[in-house]
Amino acid sequence: MNCRHCGTPLAHTFLDLGSAPPSNAYLSADDLNRPELYYPLKVKVCDHCWLVQTENYAQVEELFHPDYAYFSSTSSSWLRHAAQYSQDMIARLDLGKESLVIEVACNDGYLLKNFVVANIPCLGIEPTVSTASAAEQLGIPVLREFFSEQLGKQLMAQGKQADLIVGNNVYAHVPDINDFTRGLKAALKPGGTITLESPHLLRLIKHNQFDTIYHEHFSYLSLGTISRIFQTAGLRIWHVEQFATHGGSLRVFGCHGDDQRENTSAVKNLLAEEVQCGLQVIDAYQGFQDRTDRVKNDLLAFLIEQKKAGKKVAGYGAAAKGNTLLNYAGVKPDLLPFVSDAATSKQGKFMPGSRIPILAPSALAEYNPDFVLILPWNIAQEIRGQLSGLSVRGTEFVSAVPSLEIV
Ligand SMILES: [Zn+2]
Repeated sequence: MNCRHCGTPLAHTFLDLGSAPPSNAYLSADDLNRPELYYPLKVKVCDHCWLVQTENYAQVEELFHPDYAYFSSTSSSWLRHAAQYSQDMIARLDLGKESLVIEVACNDGYLLKNFVVANIPCLGIEPTVSTASAAEQLGIPVLREFFSEQLGKQLMAQGKQADLIVGNNVYAHVPDINDFTRGLKAALKPGGTITLESPHLLRLIKHNQFDTIYHEHFSYLSLGTISRIFQTAGLRIWHVEQFATHGGSLRVFGCHGDDQRENTSAVKNLLAEEVQCGLQVIDAYQGFQDRTDRVKNDLLAFLIEQKKAGKKVAGYGAAAKGNTLLNYAGVKPDLLPFVSDAATSKQGKFMPGSRIPILAPSALAEYNPDFVLILPWNIAQEIRGQLSGLSVRGTEFVSAVPSLEIV
């Protein structure tokens, strides 16, 4: 296989997680009588442009289920993050009723609704039917398509170039990252701004976040690599900010290559930090498999120990990262009888691979567990707050990443 960005043959494995079903292929009760499709889950690193990327495999198109169940609006901290961002950008870019804001992968309208309220014209792009419908109900026009160079050029031809293009947690999920980036170039007005948020590869490596790896997450990105990809498409990263979301995310600010804005010192500093941490030599990428295996083994040892001691453990948060962790560790309902989740669209279904049932949060109070394993560790404190009633009754909360601990 050759690098998806620069075409260099990929000689190095970053992590091999064996095989797993797609992380969003939740099962209905009927599905339990059927076989599941498992795909290899192996991640390579390019020693030329340092793009960390999932290995290619057959039938990749089957990953994208039309009933993909994740609704962004279920996380209150993410909603606050989106509202704050919208206010900042309206002020910073002086957006008004003559402007256009495009969000690629607008999900259920969790972000663009802030621009609707401010009377700023916007357009969402979202191929997933259920979330696109939710966005439309908030008054957001939605194109139900995948974003691509072709779509970017179509928007340009229709005079719909944007003052601001937003992409939150979409860039890393794009199979053809070069084509997508050329689409951003085409859909951006001269003088316009692109902001993309993605988990930061540096944090993934530093904090053992191997469970953020799944098939639909094609790329694991550093600022250095994003800058290269932008440059190849005639764009430039002129500013960057870092956030705690998803365990450590980057918000990159892009513009046309010939834009008047100068690069900020934040760009220079973070590029230097990445080089200093070794992201442009192969050594930084080796040893990650051993650290991943340690996290997996510690979780299994904990669950087996509780089982032997007659203690009750339940899970919380049926998110993609939970599926990666549970499937790599081989955890099944005998060790973790159910996972609770607030999203009604997932309740009554089963986690792919592990086939652990997903129940409403009320099931936790009935079960009265000794421990709750929080799978989305990035919002552990928020979840702890929501489940404070259980703490009063003596339940303890644990998470497995970056290492097994009481939270
Ligand atoms: Zn490459």
